Amino acid sequence: MKKKYKAYLLIIVGLFLIIYYAALPEYATYMDANMNKTTNPPPYSVNDRAQKLHDSLIVADLHADFLLWNRDLLERHDYGLVDLPRMQEGNLSLQAFTIVSKVPNGLNIHKNTADSDQITLLALAEHWPFKSLTSLKERALYQAQKLHDYAKRSNGQFVIIKTKDDLTSFVAARHNGKKLTAGFLGIEGAQVLEGDLANVKVMYDAGFRMMSATHFFDTELGGSAHGVSLGGLTDFGRAVFEDMQQRGMLIDIAHASPALIDDILAFTSTPIVSSHTGVRGTCDNQRNLSDDHLRGVARTGGVIGIGFWDVAVCEFSPEAIVKAIKYTADLVGVDHVALGSDFDGAVKSPFDASGMAQITEELLKQGFSEADIRKIMGENTLRVLGEILPD
Ligand SMILES: [Zn+2]
Repeated sequence: MKKKYKAYLLIIVGLFLIIYYAALPEYATYMDANMNKTTNPPPYSVNDRAQKLHDSLIVADLHADFLLWNRDLLERHDYGLVDLPRMQEGNLSLQAFTIVSKVPNGLNIHKNTADSDQITLLALAEHWPFKSLTSLKERALYQAQKLHDYAKRSNGQFVIIKTKDDLTSFVAARHNGKKLTAGFLGIEGAQVLEGDLANVKVMYDAGFRMMSATHFFDTELGGSAHGVSLGGLTDFGRAVFEDMQQRGMLIDIAHASPALIDDILAFTSTPIVSSHTGVRGTCDNQRNLSDDHLRGVARTGGVIGIGFWDVAVCEFSPEAIVKAIKYTADLVGVDHVALGSDFDGAVKSPFDASGMAQITEELLKQGFSEADIRKIMGENTLRVLGEILPD
């Protein structure tokens, strides 16, 4: 009998090891490869004029959920949308690495609660630290640590920007012809604070420099555009944003309910952004910003990061992305438009990070001047970061 139990135990342990070390990582890669696809696979090419201009730009993007996945940033992959080799090839010079901490089952853009979560299984499958299985704060900290590890291993090819000085040195290096690539850390949904104001400092100390109040469900700060309450800014939300402004963190209104956006616009004394969005003027749905909110963001001196995926711009094409850029620039001025790809955000994209020149080519095609293209592709984002980041 004893021998029999031993054999059972061995089988159970063996099965567990196979599931944990083979099947689950396989599942994570499968999810990554299936959720983060291009509609038009690389390689990409553009005309000579566009390529030449594109190569001279500092291209900045306000949103990518790369850190959610198990891909090594420093290696090229034939799946997913972002890694350093593809960023370098597409001259994607500065990327916001935004972390996702909790995503409800049955995700939709209309109405979600916080009762369920798809990230726990993914975190288990990707062998995140066990404490991150039960803590959203730990999920944020772990993803921040991953980006720091990549920077350390990159042999100086990739740096993380946290201060005005970091930004100035990065821009100077680029202007001196060094093909340096940079990132900064952002948070998608303030549920990572776990309702504790003191955790703003924890996030700041971990390197985060941008945060939105909500992702797909309501938080202690206010209502999500896809939540239940559709509520405005709470007292806690106001306290969080005040603290963020004092520290030098950028407020992101992506995924906020219209009432919450109104309240943030009335409250803020610093430029704010929507890190990844579409505009209702070219793609009318609950996920996208109204003309009034576009004007509101512009009034703060901030920027609107135009997304690349179908819910943002209603189709998968550089034409549709630039149509939304043009609509926004015509409405609120070219100084307030930027890029917000949502690469690796479990959305399809017309191209991956190596195909960024397609936007430059399309901007030229739709009549933008080279000076305006410089602003849209990166300078506007650099300006806002330069105003917000701490010394
Ligand atoms: Zn998002």
